[in-house]
Amino acid sequence: MNLYRIKKSNIDRNGKGLYATKDIKEGTKIIDYVGKIITKKKSDKSEKFDNSKPIYLFDLNNKYDLDGDVSWNTARLINHSCLNNCEYEGKGLKLWVVAIKNIKKGEELTCDYGFSYDTDYKQFPCSCGSKNCAGFIVRAGSRWRINKKFKKNQRISR
Ligand SMILES: [Zn+2]
Repeated sequence: MNLYRIKKSNIDRNGKGLYATKDIKEGTKIIDYVGKIITKKKSDKSEKFDNSKPIYLFDLNNKYDLDGDVSWNTARLINHSCLNNCEYEGKGLKLWVVAIKNIKKGEELTCDYGFSYDTDYKQFPCSCGSKNCAGFIVRAGSRWRINKKFKKNQRISR
């Protein structure tokens, strides 16, 4: 049995989320984050990663990105929360989602999308409802997700 099921989200009111189907212990691997592995050359050129849609692009290494915006990637449905209970982990070209605290059955699974702070951060408002909610999906020290638009702006401002 999967540790999660797809349900209408409490965080993203227009969308879906993943919910724990049973109590999950901290450290448990919950789901693989899959997608298309593309070269950075390709993601740099593609218009797809340069718009205001939620970004599903991960930085795997110096050469490759992973585009998780594909229908078979159920993990893309995990929403951002400022008080997340899951985290992305990766090794080589593989990514997965792991519980970073004990999660109760019925709780929505959430990750920190880790967009870096930028003047354009307002394109991603956050409505996770946690006490420490920043109001926007931003996080200093982002490691994984990349927003090409942010990157470009940063390049220009340097
Ligand atoms: Zn929030």
